[in-house]
Amino acid sequence: MRPNLLVLGGTTEATQLCRTLASEGLAGTVSFAGRVERPVRQPLPQRVGGFGGVPGLVEYLRQEAITHVIDATHPFAAQMSRNAVLACAEAGVPLVAFTRAPWEPVNSDTWVHVSDTASAVRALQRAAETVLLAVGRQSLPDFAPNPQHRYILRLVDPPSTPPPFPDYEVIVSRGPFTEGGDRALMAEYGVTLVVSKNSGGTGAYAKIAAARALNLPVIMIARPHMPPRDEMFSVEAVLQWIAHTGTELGV
Ligand code: NAP
Repeated sequence: MRPNLLVLGGTTEATQLCRTLASEGLAGTVSFAGRVERPVRQPLPQRVGGFGGVPGLVEYLRQEAITHVIDATHPFAAQMSRNAVLACAEAGVPLVAFTRAPWEPVNSDTWVHVSDTASAVRALQRAAETVLLAVGRQSLPDFAPNPQHRYILRLVDPPSTPPPFPDYEVIVSRGPFTEGGDRALMAEYGVTLVVSKNSGGTGAYAKIAAARALNLPVIMIARPHMPPRDEMFSVEAVLQWIAHTGTELGV
């Protein structure tokens, strides 16, 4: 049987993976939640929108005769990833997570480690600062309790409703970002503190390197816990996994 893959996407890494899968002649579909207004063009056929929880995903896997699921969602897309673990177990479809190792602090970094968004909000209970709040559009309402800060928000799309704090600046940009560019941005806006999810990977690392160069502290939000699952960190490893789970690779 030829593989019929489902890639759970929404990240730069997922798009890169899909390019390789397509160039290897593998068939499959990439799935998006539908949060971004102008999604990047994909090399595989795509579907958009939630599946309807675990039951909806089980039904989708069966109807579409999916042979392998590759969860390439963002490390903070915890609900989708948990649903994938449960649905694949129920449907008997092999699952792998294509992810990236978390960032680690290096020598001169000043990181305040917090376990989740609520803890990051508590860590912001302090005198007014200029905060680069790099947590994504959906998480902005959580930060309402600290309106004393000036927030610099870099978002893929403009916010659909005004952020819940009075003093903010929105920069709409998808990246990729560079350390030099982010240093210039932080200097231009007078950023004194960075709040970041520990996304890992290279795409979002520029602000972390820039904060280091400028000696700025970073409130680093740890990743949500995931149920046990196989994780892979390279496209090659995912290709090997597909090849070794009972189907032939390529055309
Ligand atoms: P989430 O909280 O884990 O997911 C909430 C619900 O959205 C899921 O239960 C599912 O709905 C639907 N969903 C999420 N990802 C989907 C996908 N790839 N295909 C189909 N349905 C999906 O996810 P999130 O944090 O809102 O992230 C949404 C998307 O944005 C993900 O694709 C993720 O890769 C991307 N993203 C997230 C972040 C972040 O920081 N969270 C950052 C960059 C990109 P049903 O239960 O109805 O199936």
